[in-house]
Amino acid sequence: MEEKERYALVTGGSRGIGRAVAVRLAQDGYSVIINYTADEPAALQAQEVIRNAGGTAELLRFDVSCPEQTEKAVADWHEKHPQAYIAVLVNNAGIRRDNLMVFMPDADWHKVLDTTLNGFFHITRNLLKNMMTRRFGRIVNISSLSGLKGMPGQVNYSAAKAALIGATKALAQEVAPRKVTVNAVAPGFIKSDMTRDLDESALKKLIPAGRFGQAEEVAELVSFLVSDKAAYITGETISINGGLY
Ligand code: NDP
Repeated sequence: MEEKERYALVTGGSRGIGRAVAVRLAQDGYSVIINYTADEPAALQAQEVIRNAGGTAELLRFDVSCPEQTEKAVADWHEKHPQAYIAVLVNNAGIRRDNLMVFMPDADWHKVLDTTLNGFFHITRNLLKNMMTRRFGRIVNISSLSGLKGMPGQVNYSAAKAALIGATKALAQEVAPRKVTVNAVAPGFIKSDMTRDLDESALKKLIPAGRFGQAEEVAELVSFLVSDKAAYITGETISINGGLY
C-alpha cells in the first residue's frame, strides 16, 4: 500500500531559514525531515516546535558535503519508509567562511563549495530518481543575493551561490517533462545565526525596506514554490531582499 503522507526534506532544517521552512511546510501538511549535521539540541527543538503545533517531523543527521553520509542516511530512511518517497527537497544547508580572496585559505574555499554546491549535488541526485518516476517533485535551492551580484569578502560564497543558480536553470530543463520543478530563492540579509555577527544598524541603511528580513518571510516564498499553484514556475531565481540589489 502507498504511504499517504507527503514528505519534505529540508537540509539544514534545524536553525534559521531552514527551521522556518520546516515549520511552514509542516503547516502545509508535509511530514518534514529535518536534516542537520552538528547541533543536535537545535534540531530537537525544531522538531518539538513542529510537533507542538500538531505537525510531523523526524530528524535525519548527515553532512550534505559528504556523499557517503548522504547516501547512507537516505538509504536508512527508505528502509524505514519502504513505500514512501521524498517529494519536496529544500537545499538550504550553507555556511560562510568570509575573507578577502588574497588571504583565503584553501580549506575555506573548499568547505563553502563542498557544503553549498556539492551538498546540493549529493542529495538532489539521490532523491531525483524517485521524483521523476513518481512524476511529481519540488526542489528549492536557497541561493543568495551574493550569488547574483557578488559580494567582496565572499568570493567563495558568491561562487557557490551563483553556481547553484546555474544548476537550478539546467536541472529545471532536464526534469520539467516529469513534473518536477526546480527553483532558487535568493535572500538578502535575513536575521539568523549566520548574520548575527554583522553590523545590522549600519547595513539596514543600505536596504530600501530599512530592515533585515525574517526567516519566516523566506519560508512563505518556499511554501508557495512547492505548492500546486507554482507548477508552471521552474528554473527561476526569486529574490527576497527588501529591495537591495
Ligand atoms: P544558519 O547558520 O542559521 O543555519 C545553517 C543550517 O545549516 C543549520 O541548520 C546547520 O546545522 C545546517 N548545516 C550547515 N552545514 C551543514 C552540512 N554540512 N550538512 C547539513 N547541514 C548543515 O544559516 P541561515 O539560516 O542564515 O542560512 C540558511 C541558508 O540561507 C544558507 O544556505 C545561507 O547561505 C542562505 N542565506 C542566508 C542569508 C541570511 O542573511 N541569513 C542570506 C542569503 C542566503 P548544524 O548547526 O547542525 O550544522
